[in-house]
Amino acid sequence: IVSIRDVHKSFGDLEVLKGVSIDVMKGEVICIIGPSGSGKSTLIRCINALNDIQQGSITVEGIAVHDPKLDKRALRRKVGMVFQQYNLFPHKTALENVMMAPLKVLKQDRAEVEARARALIAKVRLEGKEDSYPGELSGGQQQRVAIARSLAMQPDVMLFDEVTAALDPETVKEVLVTIKDLAAEGMTCILVTHEMGFAREIADHIYFTDRGVIVEHGPPATFFERASDPRTREFLSQIL
Ligand code: ATP
Ligand code: MG
Repeated sequence: IVSIRDVHKSFGDLEVLKGVSIDVMKGEVICIIGPSGSGKSTLIRCINALNDIQQGSITVEGIAVHDPKLDKRALRRKVGMVFQQYNLFPHKTALENVMMAPLKVLKQDRAEVEARARALIAKVRLEGKEDSYPGELSGGQQQRVAIARSLAMQPDVMLFDEVTAALDPETVKEVLVTIKDLAAEGMTCILVTHEMGFAREIADHIYFTDRGVIVEHGPPATFFERASDPRTREFLSQIL
């Protein structure tokens, strides 16, 4: 469903991605881990065409993301993205936040959009918070609204970039549970995370990036127990 081939990305003279290739099948959960500055966020942003690339190719369900003539709106309907900062609209309720994009972009019928938004809020386990404003919700709850908002566009792939990094430890788990629910329902997910236990539990495949290259990848059991690359081992030894 997502094919990343030999992607190179530079910011000026700084080459941040140096030939990254990843394939993601429908329904798979991929975790990308690695040290700060290794290019994880850059890669995620390339998949959603928030960054352009200098070399290589990225396709999402047959859409060539690297094509200069890319229809970004078509891509954004297929790909949902959630960041560390949830950026909800503060003067809109949870329900309104979830309804906004489908009303505006998809131009769907209001009653239909609302029914789906309510179902999504229930799905992220926030029933009863429909009319709360972001300021009245905890960080974890806001992040779950942000996930529901992304899902409202009915994407085929979800990108998560360190979505729990800014949260209080008590609320991290509820967000991870939400992502786990999604994965269990067959949503294709690409996650950047520092939650190793979670990665191990949820991922079909783990990629370790360091300085713009994938130095090691494999299914979690192999990855965590038999990582052969010294940089991967060092990283894991610091974290686990
Ligand atoms: P972290 O774990 O801290 O989030 P990361 O792996 O996500 O790190 P990136 O954010 O992808 O790392 O950044 C990779 C490198 O690219 C860094 O050296 C960063 O300074 C640089 N970089 C990222 N975005 C830009 C930009 N818009 N302009 C210039 N340099 C950038
Ligand atoms: Mg990052």
